[in-house]
Amino acid sequence: MATKVLPTKLLKRLTLFTRPLVTSSSSTSSSSSSSISAIPSLTLTQKPEPTTIIPPSTLDLKDHQKLFATLSSKKLLHASLILHMAAMDPVVDFGMWVMNSKLMGMDNIVRDLIFRAVRHTFYEHFCAGENTVELANCMKRLNESGLRGMLDFAVEFTSDNDACDRNFHGFLDTIETAKTLPPSSVSSVVVKITAICPLNLLERVSDLLRWQEKDPSFNLPWKDNTFPIFSDSSPLYHTLKKPDPLTPEEEQHLLLGQQRLLKLCQACVEANIPLVIDAEHTTVQPAVDYFTYSSAIKCNKDDNPIVYGTIQAYLKDAKERLLLATNAADKMGVPMGFKLVRGAYMSSERKLASSLGYQSPIHNNIQQTHACYNDCASFLLESITNGSHGVILATHNVESGRLAAKKAEDLGIAYWNKKLEFAQLYGMAEALSFGLRNAGFQVSKYMPFGPVETAIPYLLRRAEENRGLLSASGLDRELTRKELGRRLKAAIL
Ligand SMILES: Cc1cc2nc3c(=O)[nH]c(=O)nc-3n(C[C@H](O)[C@H](O)[C@H](O)COP(=O)(O)OP(=O)(O)OC[C@H]3O[C@@H](n4cnc5c(N)ncnc54)[C@H](O)[C@@H]3O)c2cc1C
Repeated sequence: MATKVLPTKLLKRLTLFTRPLVTSSSSTSSSSSSSISAIPSLTLTQKPEPTTIIPPSTLDLKDHQKLFATLSSKKLLHASLILHMAAMDPVVDFGMWVMNSKLMGMDNIVRDLIFRAVRHTFYEHFCAGENTVELANCMKRLNESGLRGMLDFAVEFTSDNDACDRNFHGFLDTIETAKTLPPSSVSSVVVKITAICPLNLLERVSDLLRWQEKDPSFNLPWKDNTFPIFSDSSPLYHTLKKPDPLTPEEEQHLLLGQQRLLKLCQACVEANIPLVIDAEHTTVQPAVDYFTYSSAIKCNKDDNPIVYGTIQAYLKDAKERLLLATNAADKMGVPMGFKLVRGAYMSSERKLASSLGYQSPIHNNIQQTHACYNDCASFLLESITNGSHGVILATHNVESGRLAAKKAEDLGIAYWNKKLEFAQLYGMAEALSFGLRNAGFQVSKYMPFGPVETAIPYLLRRAEENRGLLSASGLDRELTRKELGRRLKAAIL
């Protein structure tokens, strides 16, 4: 693996532009408040005069009555039950065993009963409906509580072109549905590149891009204009020998994949709705970034980033790649959108690297991931005030939310600024979403929708994430319980 670091010029720029949020390893709020007060105040030469309205209040995650004021008691009770069930290891173990079992492949009454049970419990909590009609109803309820939605037609990767075409039409329908909803309720439409271009082709393209990074004289005749995809420290171990060039058929299929994405981008440009491209495994991520950046160069114009890519802060090279891409976008005058996440494929990434005898591309410990996330968030927030980029801070981490909210306030980024959005998955981190909303920020929920059977892999990931009493949903469990208790007392007395 290459061990070179960023060129000095870029590093200088990073330290100049990025006053980190707080990169302390702690995630307790007590340490956060002392660290926040340690951030020096900004001078006028470093940021523009705030011409905007400062959010009405800072993040308050204690007042459960205020946090859940827009939720009915029925919805609150349902959420509380699901989160408490998801915290019980035996329940999750049993649920995962059933959903992974052969029973799910059989067409019988037992399977129907299981689907019905899943539909009224976990599916209803974490998904926005089986079709666009149910999605629209769900979005209406969401919008009434002051939140917006990132519409996610939930399909997993595919390996053939016909399925890519079907998925493409699903994404196009999603954009059409978004157009029929009140503009204030839709923040973006989400797309997965592995659903519109065959997975094995994306692996081949990633291999070829990596080989060109090793050997710049290696010619890729099909390659469009793009921002940098790798940094000097990006791991290239996935590609150990020179790959064969794309066959004419592969080139044709690549073109089809790019055309599908461009048509989605154009539909979003016409509707003026951002299109957010998810990040996936490192085996395909170079190709995903290539698709993202080449379409952003074509479609992101003036002050309006339509195409958003995703940066996974758990990757060791995340900050360097983010800096290189924004630097290139600035030079080309392209407004770029970035969604920042920690990353969801940690165990498979570590397994793959270790099976090939290489170091994991993921930070060695969770504190480094937290630090990287907060650094990148800080850099992106400053990029909003310095330029025309758009930012989605996608996280359930209360400390990262608190630090970013404070930084945005310090920078004078107004609550109505369309370039900043906080985001959480539907059904997760409700307290953080409502707290950020109450503090005056734009907040979105990531809303997967589609038939129950296609949502099973997504639900399994959510079950895994919420399992155990110490899981990230602990705060939501505690606050929903307290609020239900308060409402019950108020009803009785
Ligand atoms: C709106 C939205 C969109 C998303 N889109 C994507 C996407 O496109 N691609 C994608 O990959 N993920 C995506 N995710 C999922 C995301 O990457 C995370 O899996 C999830 O949000 C949890 O991270 P968190 O920021 O909420 O932080 P936390 O709740 O603090 O989660 C921390 C978790 O990070 C993991 N972790 C990371 N690095 C380390 C490490 N070095 N050592 C140990 N544990 C570590 C652990 O599993 C830990 O539980 C998205 C999430 C949201 C909210």
